[in-house]
Amino acid sequence: STELPDLVVVGSGFFGLTVAERCAADLGLKVLVLERRHHLGGNAYSEFEPETGIEVHKYGTHLFHTSNERVWEYVNRFTDFTNYQHRVFGKYQGQVYSLPMNLALINSFFGKSHTPDEARALIAEQSSEIDTKDATNLEEKAISLIGRPLYEAFIKGYTAKQWQTDPTELSADIITRLPVRYNFDNRYFNDKYEGLPVDGYTAWLERMADHPNIEVRLNTDFLSADGVADEFKGKVPIVYTGPVDEYFDNSEGRLSWRTVDLRTEILDVDDYQGTGVVNANDADVPFTRELEFKHLHPERAASYTPGRTVVVREFSRFAEEGDEPYYPINTAEDRAKLLKYRDLAAKEPMVLFGGRLGTYKYLDMHMAIAAALSMYDNKLRPHFADGAELKSGGVDGE
Ligand code: FAD
Ligand code: UDP
Repeated sequence: STELPDLVVVGSGFFGLTVAERCAADLGLKVLVLERRHHLGGNAYSEFEPETGIEVHKYGTHLFHTSNERVWEYVNRFTDFTNYQHRVFGKYQGQVYSLPMNLALINSFFGKSHTPDEARALIAEQSSEIDTKDATNLEEKAISLIGRPLYEAFIKGYTAKQWQTDPTELSADIITRLPVRYNFDNRYFNDKYEGLPVDGYTAWLERMADHPNIEVRLNTDFLSADGVADEFKGKVPIVYTGPVDEYFDNSEGRLSWRTVDLRTEILDVDDYQGTGVVNANDADVPFTRELEFKHLHPERAASYTPGRTVVVREFSRFAEEGDEPYYPINTAEDRAKLLKYRDLAAKEPMVLFGGRLGTYKYLDMHMAIAAALSMYDNKLRPHFADGAELKSGGVDGE
């Protein structure tokens, strides 16, 4: 159409949809959401696998958790949540251990029962070989926190596979802490609220976009050569949640990302591994973890095809051009480039940059939603409701 919307949102992930929903529902603005994929929802998108009835998260398992009251109230407007609590196990040399590191893991790994104080003393002794403040790389830092035996079993191989870099060459500040719990608590997340959307992620994401003032245009790349951007740039405010380097045509160089290849198999067994996520901690197993999606929704058991299950294996590698960017690598070089992109972003009239790609930050879903709500409060609402100047001010989501 030739009529301009009030706001263009590039990207239909949680960041973009939260901005669109607030501007449409709260301010009555006409919002056009442009999405280059064939579906909305960004990386949280999921599909029900038709043969088995199992919901598969297409871009890796997504577990929702938050302690942010405002985010929890907001997300509950669009979906109910199950009472799922995430737990992760790790396989190493033919044994299965309970992660994160806790008394169950310590007892089975060292083959002996320890009281909490005995376990604490054991780890203190094993980690005494390096002082944390002298650690110069990830390996030394990890050993200084948990000791060499646990590091070599559970961190070394997994980290090398995930980063394709020897842990002695990774920066010590990738791990600020490695939690060891001296009790049997093996919940993965510490947040106040946790659960999975009762009827799936896609239903949740679609309800956010389900407003008469919101139009979602799929298969539309804002940066495509046929000039989609020119229709809108400088004419209406734009919230851009795609990769910040791509927006500027990679003028300062590409930011580096890791991607994950997800290989899916439908197996003729009812239950493959008895739980949702099992990490592969051995260095010589090529994947980092195995996901069995039916276990995320035990309450749906009656709707699953008996005797079948969906298993996804994750293979991590550096992202090349055209790969999905998943985790920012964040080398010193990346950080220098990012500063230059932030300067460019701050000067870009009528464009706000947000979300995990727009800010080059790993954001959990609740963080992306919280950041979008604060962009709405601090920039969009003051502009549209009170006529305040739209200050690009670089990136949001800090
Ligand atoms: P995205 O969801 O990436 O959405 C950005 C959208 O912009 C995409 O749909 C993309 O196609 C679109 N786009 C980009 N460029 C253009 C363009 N030029 N034109 C049009 N459209 C464009 N979070 C959790 O809370 N719990 C988890 O367990 C969890 N697990 C994760 C596992 C993996 C493997 C990954 C990668 C992420 C995980 N996350 C998890 C994080 C979660 O995916 C993010 O919080 C969420 O995706 C952020 O939303 P966003 O809108 O910023 O970005
Ligand atoms: N990690 C590890 N062994 C494990 C789990 C995690 O060494 O069994 C380390 C690894 O360095 C990894 C980091 O912790 O990069 C974060 O873990 P992960 O990426 O699995 O977290 P998630 O993707 O679940 O947020």
